[in-house]
Amino acid sequence: MRGAVSVAIDGPGGAGKTSVARAVAGILGVECLDTGAMYRAVAAAVLGRGIDPAQEAEVAGVARRVVGTIDATERAVRLEGADVTEEIRGTAVTAVVSTVAANPGVRQVMVARQQAWAAERDGCVMEGRDICTVVLPRADVRVYLHADAAVRARRRSGESGGNESAVRASLSERDRLDSTRSHAPLPPPEGLPAGVRAIDTTHRTVEEVVAEIVGMIGPLR
Ligand code: C5P
Repeated sequence: MRGAVSVAIDGPGGAGKTSVARAVAGILGVECLDTGAMYRAVAAAVLGRGIDPAQEAEVAGVARRVVGTIDATERAVRLEGADVTEEIRGTAVTAVVSTVAANPGVRQVMVARQQAWAAERDGCVMEGRDICTVVLPRADVRVYLHADAAVRARRRSGESGGNESAVRASLSERDRLDSTRSHAPLPPPEGLPAGVRAIDTTHRTVEEVVAEIVGMIGPLR
């Protein structure tokens, strides 16, 4: 199964987006873009320049300057020529990324870059928070992954080796900021637009979720 299908995957942290997106992209033979890593890279650039993440104009200026240097299509994420894979998953970036992502000037720059990236390709997989609604609302397949907060925290702490209750507190604060921001908030699973399928991954393996998404693609061919 190869080529020209576009797949948009949204959902909160720990719902399984990245593992599922990579596997679906592998089956389709297309590239996969982790837009959360792009917002994290901008947050790292902001911290690296000693700028207050709440300074909207300065932060949007950083996003404009660095966006062309971010590569978030591979496991190793690059920013201005440097490998920032570890840094962007660290606690400093995680603590400020939702503030940076709530900045309308940052979102404008990122959405434009993500749409251009998709337009340059014949099919892709893109994952984030606003891909089904804002970035690729005409994607062939649009899914929203969600799961119980406790299960999401367990998955994330397993990946990072962090303390589960601290990870849960950090995830829940990001969920709150991401779903209440004024610009492109993360919708709840019961508030999705028509055509976006919600998949509860709480009790499901990555393979099962991938199979469901691939099953949605089949009839399109
Ligand atoms: O997916 P990940 O947890 O790495 O995303 C980090 C943060 O980036 C999210 O908490 C959210 O604030 C922001 N984000 C966003 N829109 C996207 C992807 C991520 O606002 N499309």
